[in-house]
Amino acid sequence: MILKGLRIILMKLRRLLVPAAASAVTLALSGCGALTSDDGSGSDGSRTVVAGLYPLQYVAQRVAGDAFDVENLTQPGGEPHDLELGIGQTAALADAALLVYIDSLQPAVDEAAEEVAGVEVLDAASVVDLISFEDEHSDEEDAEDEHSDDHSGHDHGELDPHFWLDPARMADLGDAVAERLADIDPDEAAAFEERAAELRSDLEALDEEYTEGLSGCEIRTVVTNHDAFGYLEKYDLELASINGFSPDAEPTPAALAELQDLIAETGITTVFSESLVSPQAAEVLAVDAGVDTAVLDTIEGLTEETADEDYLSLMRSNLAALEGANRC
Ligand SMILES: [Zn+2]
Repeated sequence: MILKGLRIILMKLRRLLVPAAASAVTLALSGCGALTSDDGSGSDGSRTVVAGLYPLQYVAQRVAGDAFDVENLTQPGGEPHDLELGIGQTAALADAALLVYIDSLQPAVDEAAEEVAGVEVLDAASVVDLISFEDEHSDEEDAEDEHSDDHSGHDHGELDPHFWLDPARMADLGDAVAERLADIDPDEAAAFEERAAELRSDLEALDEEYTEGLSGCEIRTVVTNHDAFGYLEKYDLELASINGFSPDAEPTPAALAELQDLIAETGITTVFSESLVSPQAAEVLAVDAGVDTAVLDTIEGLTEETADEDYLSLMRSNLAALEGANRC
């Protein structure tokens, strides 16, 4: 409560101070006809891009190169869905040239994106083609959907924000970030575009690997801890989750019983837990159903254990885990 109050005060102060500072700069520079500062910085000179969570940070870093520092609002090991912004993050955000976030994944960041003044914002949901939870599960029967609705806190007609698990959509974000950075720093536009193209070619190669790797699986169903992996359905997989949209929700006994039936029907070998929350729910289900557990990384954030990894290497580990579990 106190933090939130302070944050609002900081935001308000910022709103009051920024226009004053900006007009002082404009006045100072108007004599020589320049409207931006000499080093090609953003409107207030910031060289920082702030991202809501790791996959967005990865794209921003790849595209920005060393032209901007990129900061992640979610600390390593932190679970990004219920991120709370502290004073440090709020200050970083207020000083940024650009905030890259994705609407409806992190409520605290959604709120901050509306409150920040003088900071460019790029909502990934506005530039990447998102699919709705409903479309992902269109050919599953209601039993599955009902259990998620019970406790997931989201409507299945809503858009699924976890688009980074589709490399092709990540490439689209890369192009959009390049465009926005070029608006902020036109001198570097060609470099941003070139880096976005390199990123796209890495991501398209990864997309190919997924398509090939998952083409001949004996088992097509995947059970994960929360609804993060819906975009993998493009590779002809069917995703079901224990907890719906909330990574650390408590599954109901009815939901667990349904998943046990699904495991028995489909011959699934493995229930997947994730790296940022307790594997307990997945382990309980796996033990009851007599199958294994393994980690499928949501890539929502890095941990101490995955600090040396990056988006591409984590996606490749996930592919290997899926190929093993689904007998591809
Ligand atoms: Zn998630």
